Formats: sequence, C-alpha cells, structure tokens
Amino acid sequence: MTSSPDLNLWLKVLQKIEPQLQRGQFITWFKDTTILGRDNATVVIGLPLPMFLNWHLEHYRTTTLDALREIDPTVEQIVYQVDNGLKDDLQRTLRLLEHFPEKKPRKLPNKSEVKIAEGLTSKIGNSRYTLENFVVGANNRLAHAACSAAASDPGGKYNPLFLYGGVGLGKTHLLQATGNAIHRTLPHAAILYTTTEDFTNQVIEAIQHSKMEQFRRRYREVDVFIIDDVQFLANKERTQEELFHTFNTLTEDRKQVIISSDRAPKELSGLQERLVSRFERGMIADLSQPDYETRFAILSEKSKEYGLLLDQKVIDYVARYATRSVRQLEGILMQAVAQYELEHCVPTVKSIAEIMRKLGDEPSLLPKTDVGFVAPPQHAISFQDVLEEVSRYYSVSVPDMLGQSRVREILVPRHIAMYIGKKHLQMSYVRLGESFSNRDHTTVMHAVQKITSKMDEDPQLLREIRTLEKEVGLTVAR
Ligand code: ADP
Ligand code: MG
Repeated sequence: MTSSPDLNLWLKVLQKIEPQLQRGQFITWFKDTTILGRDNATVVIGLPLPMFLNWHLEHYRTTTLDALREIDPTVEQIVYQVDNGLKDDLQRTLRLLEHFPEKKPRKLPNKSEVKIAEGLTSKIGNSRYTLENFVVGANNRLAHAACSAAASDPGGKYNPLFLYGGVGLGKTHLLQATGNAIHRTLPHAAILYTTTEDFTNQVIEAIQHSKMEQFRRRYREVDVFIIDDVQFLANKERTQEELFHTFNTLTEDRKQVIISSDRAPKELSGLQERLVSRFERGMIADLSQPDYETRFAILSEKSKEYGLLLDQKVIDYVARYATRSVRQLEGILMQAVAQYELEHCVPTVKSIAEIMRKLGDEPSLLPKTDVGFVAPPQHAISFQDVLEEVSRYYSVSVPDMLGQSRVREILVPRHIAMYIGKKHLQMSYVRLGESFSNRDHTTVMHAVQKITSKMDEDPQLLREIRTLEKEVGLTVAR
C-alpha cells in the first residue's frame, strides 16, 4: 500500500479501471498519473504530458469518473491538470507495473472454449480476431468476402473454403474471425479451429493408443471445421488419409470446412491428388501483399487498437518502407509501443526509422541499379524541401531551425540542414547564412565542417543523414 490518502484512492480507482482496458493501453495511459488534489466535489487528476490530455478527455474521462464515484459517491466531477514533474516521480505516482503485474501466461481475451465431445473442446481461439477489425484492401478483398459469406451461411455456397497466401498476410486472422463470427450467431455449434500440426499430433496419439475409432467419431461431430496451414501435411500419409475421410464426411453433411495454406492447392507438393481435388471443389481465395493505402489503413487501425497516437507522417514512413507483410507492420508498431511505454518517447519518423533498422527493416539507402551514378532528381529540389524534410524527421519546426535557439535538439538538425544545402544544392556559405537568420558565413562553414567530420566517427549520424538524403530525393552516389 502507499502512504498518501490520495494515492490510495487513486490505486482503488485504477483497480476498477484496469480490467476494462487492454493491458498495453492501461499501462501507457495511466503510468505517472495521480490525484493532485480535491476541491469539494471536484477531483483534480494529474497527467505527466500534454499529449495525455486529449486522450484522457476523449477515452477515459467517463470510465475514470465512474470508478471514482463508485468508491466515493460525493465526487461530482474530475478535471485534468498536466504536471511534467510527475514523470517517474515515485513519491507522487504509483509503480504501475508492481501494482498491476502482468498475469502469466498473458491472457487472451475471452478465449471461448466449447466442448464438442469427450476429450475435444472447440478452440475457436483468439476473439481479438474479428471480421470487422480486418482491414480490407485490394489484396484480400475476395478472401474477406468469402469468409463473411461462409460466416453468414455456414455449409452453404462457399464450402469448402480454401484461403492461401504468404506468411503474415492474415490467413489465421480470417480463419479465426470466421469461427468467431459463426460462434456469435450459432453459440451451440461445435466449431473447431485446429492447426495442421495439432491435427497431426492427434492422429499420432490416436494410433499409439489404438483410439482411431474414437478420433474419427469426435472429428465428425464437428459443425465447422477449420484447419490452418495444410502445407505442413506434405508427406504425412496417414494424417492425409484421416483428413480426407473427415473432410468427406463433413462436407457430405453440409458442414462448413475452411482450409488455409501458404500456396494454391495445385502447388502443394507431397499431397495426395484426391485431397488436393477436394480442396479445389469449393471456393478458393488468395491473399497477397497489401498496397500502400492498405498498409496505411492497417497502421492507423492498429495504432488505435494499441492506444498509441501516431503522427500521419510516421504512419506514412512505415507504410512506404515496410512492404513485406502485415505481421511486419505489427512488429514495428509493437516496438514503438514498448518504447513509448518504457521511455515515454512519442514516435517520430526518426525513432521509427531506428526501430525499423533494429528489426532489419531498414529501407535500402542506395538505389540498387544506379550505384555509381547520380540519378537525376525527379523534380527540382529546393532548400525549402530540405528544411521540411529535416523538420519532419527530427520533429523540430522550420522556424526553430532557422531561429536562434541553441538547444541541442535544434542545433543538430540545423547543422544537418546546412550540410545538405551545401553538399547537394551547392548553396554558398553566404546564402546559407542569410537563410538562417543572417548568420555569418563562417558560422555556417564551421557547422558544415563539424557535421562532415562527425559523420566519420558516428555511424548513427551517418545513417540519419543518408536516410534524409534519400527522403529528400537526393540520390546518393558512391
Ligand atoms: P498468416 O496466418 O497469414 O501468417 P496472420 O493471420 O497471423 O497471418 O496475420 C499476422 C498479423 O497481422 C495478425 O496479428 C493479424 O491480426 C494481422 N493482420 C493481417 N492482415 C490484416 C488485416 N488486413 N487487417 C488487420 N490485421 C491484419
Ligand atoms: Mg497463420
């Protein structure tokens, strides 16, 4: 327990709020918060950063007030006050991670288990996956539509339904979302989601314990059978055989079957022809890599889910360079959330670029085909473009860069802008000095020299400048 009465009250309030939120959101937005004081029926809640204010007003005001009033009905309203000193102030705030330790294993929200038969519970898995929170784009529209149709009419027109596509493109999400949707409309239906690996293990176990009959009976009582990643059936003869019979029984009874794989049925090697031809009987839909717009939409959607405010420019940067899969996008976001939770650093283009580099997702800085040539810029690049790009990258304003401030956060970007202006736009020191509040040309010269020599010893700086050069559209020649 804590010593101050206000903190004790705040702890009780948070204990009521915590179960209502996702853990990440709760920790992010309630860390370093506190009750600052009270004036009759008004409670003053302290927030550590200005950016918390809007978020709390918009998302947590009612929840917080309700929780407070449950404990103390004399409270009538809450007001917020930003107090920068709250960050990491252990006297005035709670150690959130100690009071709310992570429950292990990390609980999946509302994992629904439905008993199907002795020894078999229906695992439709993760209710976080829904058809509604799946972002639809040109790359997955057909797959999503087919799943929605199967969900509203299981065993109907789209049966079996076969989805295929590369890693991290949303197959498991769609499979489980379809199971979840059917469970919602038909709560008594026996819905089974299984991975090919699990299914294989069940077959092996049944063989070992001579329980094949029981195995078959169990699987054939299922109303909706969902099996993920059937490419792993390759060369598993006995498992294929069992799946073939299960499949036939179920589809003859007009039970819905949904299958996923990393490639089209025809391309599956090591699979019996008859099984492949069954897979091909119904609806086949593929998922491919999302385009820029879809990546952008997914990032906006997911960042909201995680409770992280992301600047459009940051989203744009990730969407432009992280092109591989949705899982990659999620990985980057999760790192950003973690960093934000630990260090309270709001993601900027610079910090997100650094995360991507650590994850090995760094955009390649040199044009692959043009090494050795200076590719002509697509359009004329002005010094204003450079300033804007540097401002965006380091999250400092253009007027600040051009102004007089000597704080390090502004000084470095300012010098980098000078360096790029000199090196790439061949601006004279005098002209550069004029642009920067009429500084003397020797000041600019020193700044450019300083950056040039620092680039030799500081690989991080070098990388940042190379990224900027690319962002501005200045191709780097070697
Ligand atoms: P796969 O099974 O194809 O390898 P997953 O279904 O596991 O891919 O997807 C990887 C992650 O990306 C999951 O967390 C999933 O929720 C997410 N995801 C994939 N596609 C989308 C989408 N279109 N909209 C929202 N989330 C998506
Ligand atoms: Mg999967």
